Amino acid sequence: MAFDKKLLDIVACPVCKGKLEYDKVAQKLVCKADKLAYPITEGIPVLLENRAEPLTETV
Ligand SMILES: [Zn+2]
Repeated sequence: MAFDKKLLDIVACPVCKGKLEYDKVAQKLVCKADKLAYPITEGIPVLLENRAEPLTETV
């Protein structure tokens, strides 16, 4: 099941409540402000701070 980009209008970063960006290649939602990447599992974004991975590369 693919991630629905319409969800981008609904979801927000749980840390800063900011907008998230969809990384199609990595299948993650990225918060540039916090430099965190949230995984997407079976089309469902996992917006939990303790599940987020730190971004290592600058986008
Ligand atoms: Zn954030």
